[in-house]
Amino acid sequence: MTGSARDGRPVRVTVWNEFRQERSDAPVRAVYPDGIHAAIAEGLRGHEGLEVRTATLDEADQGLSDDVLATTDVLTWWGHVAHDDVSDTTVERVHARVLDGMGLVVLHSGHFSRIFKRLMGTTCDLKWREDGRSERLWVVDPSHPLVDGLPETFVLPEEEMYGEHFDIPAPDELVLLSWFEAGEVFRSGCTWRRGRGRVVYLRPGHETHPTYVDPNVRRLIANACRWAAGPHGEAPVRGHYPGPS
Ligand code: ZN
Repeated sequence: MTGSARDGRPVRVTVWNEFRQERSDAPVRAVYPDGIHAAIAEGLRGHEGLEVRTATLDEADQGLSDDVLATTDVLTWWGHVAHDDVSDTTVERVHARVLDGMGLVVLHSGHFSRIFKRLMGTTCDLKWREDGRSERLWVVDPSHPLVDGLPETFVLPEEEMYGEHFDIPAPDELVLLSWFEAGEVFRSGCTWRRGRGRVVYLRPGHETHPTYVDPNVRRLIANACRWAAGPHGEAPVRGHYPGPS
């Protein structure tokens, strides 16, 4: 797998979060007192082979300088109320790094992030309802590394509903489907290739539910980081080409 391309060193994960509602909104802070990024990072640190750091929107360079991105094998993305505060420069930097081989794992309301919409080329819109009822996830591709060690199906007791139609290009791989109590369904675990990079979308993770401490969700995100992490082989030569040497 991708580990060999890194000569056995750990996967370098940067967990990015806009980190706004945890500071402004008491119900969110009650669930994620140190920020959603802290809970995601803690979950990843419980899995082997991952070297984890965090970055947030209000840091210098929006947490994503060229240096940070150059030393990131896979970036996880959580955003919700501040998508429009992410600058053109940041979107361009992250986009270029994905095409150059960095993995990107987009979580929950990151479906509406500028970087995800840029990579997908569609609206990425969907149905939603904050009813706090349960979500049942089903593995529909049991051979995929994203679901290593996960049961065939598992339940999150309280979640926000996301329903189809989810306006994304047809995923290269569909790994998880969700079912909600009122009957809606949703493509909850999807992958795409973009350039040399791998992109994953994982649905669970509303800011007022403790989804990021759920052991299955934590395993799923760790698996996604390992699977998506670059590099994935040498950069191809493009343009005028004199021939192989
Ligand atoms: Zn949400």
